[in-house]
Parts: sequence; C-alpha cells; structure tokens
Amino acid sequence: RAKVRGRGRVEVHDPTTTNSAADRLRLLGELRLGIAAGQLRLLYQPQVQLRDGRVRGVEALVRWQHPTRGLLPPAEFIDVAEQSGLVRALGAWVLEAAVKQAARWARDPSHPTLEVSVNLSARQLTAPGLVEAVTAILVRHRLPAGLLVLEVTETALVADPEAAAAALTALKELGVGVSVDDFGTGYASLTYLQRFPVDELKIDRSFVSGLGVSDGDTGIVRACVQLAHAVGVRAVAEGVETEEQRQALVEMGCDVEQGYLFSRPVEAAVVRELAAR
Ligand code: C2E
Ligand code: MG
Ligand code: MG
Ligand code: MG
Repeated sequence: RAKVRGRGRVEVHDPTTTNSAADRLRLLGELRLGIAAGQLRLLYQPQVQLRDGRVRGVEALVRWQHPTRGLLPPAEFIDVAEQSGLVRALGAWVLEAAVKQAARWARDPSHPTLEVSVNLSARQLTAPGLVEAVTAILVRHRLPAGLLVLEVTETALVADPEAAAAALTALKELGVGVSVDDFGTGYASLTYLQRFPVDELKIDRSFVSGLGVSDGDTGIVRACVQLAHAVGVRAVAEGVETEEQRQALVEMGCDVEQGYLFSRPVEAAVVRELAAR
C-alpha cells in the first residue's frame, strides 16, 4: 500500500504544455480571469451502445475560449490548473454547466434519455464537500442522479484511497454513476475494482488504437472487457477511430464505444441531432 501511495503521488510533467515558471504563472492568471469572465465552453462526445447503435450518453469535455489564442484544448491548461488548485473552480464550473445541459436534454421528449459523463480531477475527488456540491447541483437543476456519471482516473483513486473510497461510496448512495477513465494506464490494482463502487471501465485509447494491429493491445482490450464483465460493470472503449476497431470490440462483447468514428466532440445542439438518429 505504501508503495502504491508513493507512486500515486508522482507528478507527471508534460514539457509540451508549459515552458517556464513565468509562462505557467501567466497562464494561471489568465485562466483565473477567464473562468470568471465566462470563457470556458463544453463540447460533448457521444457514447454509443455497440449492441444497437443507440447514443447512450455523452462525455462533457472542457475547452477554453482564450481571448487571443483561440479555442484551447485541456492539454493546454488542465495540468496548470490541477497543480495550482484552480482546477476546483474549473471543475465546479464544468459540473454546473454539464448538469444544466443534461437537465435540458432530460426535459426534451424528442430524444432518448442521455447520461452525461463529467471528468473529475484527482483534487476534486478527494476535496471535502464534493458530495454536498454534487447533491446541490443535481437538486438545483432537478436532474435525476442516475443521469450523471463521474469519470475518475486510476491515479486519482490510488493517490488517496481512503478519501476516494469515501467519496465514491457517498456518490453511489446518491445514485451517481462512477467510471474509471483511461483504464489500464494507471496504477490501480485489481483489488481497487472490488473496493471502489464503480459502474464502468473506460479502456484507454492507447490500447484501442492497437486493436487488430498489435496482438498485445488486442489482448489487453479483450482482457479489460472480460474483467469489467467479471466484476459486473460496463466496458467502454475510448478513441474508436476505425470500423475494424469497432468490429473487434463488438466481437469481444464491449458495451459502449466513444471515438471519432461515430463523432468528434460537438456542441450541445449537434448532440440532439446525433442522438435522434
Ligand atoms: P479523457 O477524459 O480521456 O477524454 C477523451 C479525450 O480523447 C478527449 O480529448 C477526446 O476529444 C479525445 N478523443 C475522443 N475520441 C477520440 C479519437 O477517436 N481519437 C483521438 N485521437 N482522440 C479522441 P480532450 O477533449 O482534448 O480532453 C483531454 C483530457 O482532458 C481528457 O481525457 C480529460 O482527462 C481532460 N479533461 C477534459 N475535460 C475535462 C474537465 O472538464 N475536467 C477535467 N478535470 N479534465 C478534463
Ligand atoms: Mg474522460
Ligand atoms: Mg479517457
Ligand atoms: Mg484517455
């Protein structure tokens, strides 16, 4: 356990996103102002049931409409936000906006009920007050808890297992779904799958992209699907880009696909059309 905890605390630094301390500091200042000024946006990427092609839900993905640099993907600012603690303000905005949109969809009788998945940072997961905040947002927008799924990474789970388990258990009682994102890339042991009440494993894109090409990746994806089903949870494949990958997933019995093959992340208005198809 000590070893796992130690490894979970290692910070991953990506030199491509930020250069110097001064750059990071400036970015942070701009982001703080940008959040307050309403510069964050959400795109939504459909998640499709492989059994019948129905859009089961969407994943909310944050973007920053920067005043001079254009629409920035999370790779440009999430790490800085996470390390500074500003990710809590960002995360609060994302949750509010995603639940508000989900409630709009839930009131719309013209298309099937959509689940909305929201990414939680490690800090958000273990910060005190998460469950209270989620409850308040669901009540405020009158969204049934079952239509919200929170995606957490293995790294977030192992960073502080006690706090993570407590938060996930409370979220589960509330009726919110929990998904383990980027499954297979972190340090979570199989024990965690039993200890944490999760509903879904999202198999990382790095394995999905090797389907049919690399025997190793194909075997890993198959094992992840079987593992998910063995512990009674849904298997979702992320980053599905080709028809061959989809076919392999269907043969393996994977439940849900998400990726450019069906759709890139899109505006909320476009989701409506895609879900009605
Ligand atoms: P993630 O949660 O694993 O999200 C999936 C990422 O893969 C998204 O990138 C999505 O656009 C991309 N993707 C989906 N299908 C394909 C595909 O077929 N091919 C390729 N090449 N990529 C695909 P995005 O939107 O840039 O987000 C990157 C990461 O940023 C997310 O990875 C997540 O970890 C983080 N993130 C995004 N939104 C939020 C947020 O609201 N809060 C937090 N804390 N993190 C977020
Ligand atoms: Mg995700
Ligand atoms: Mg993912
Ligand atoms: Mg990923």
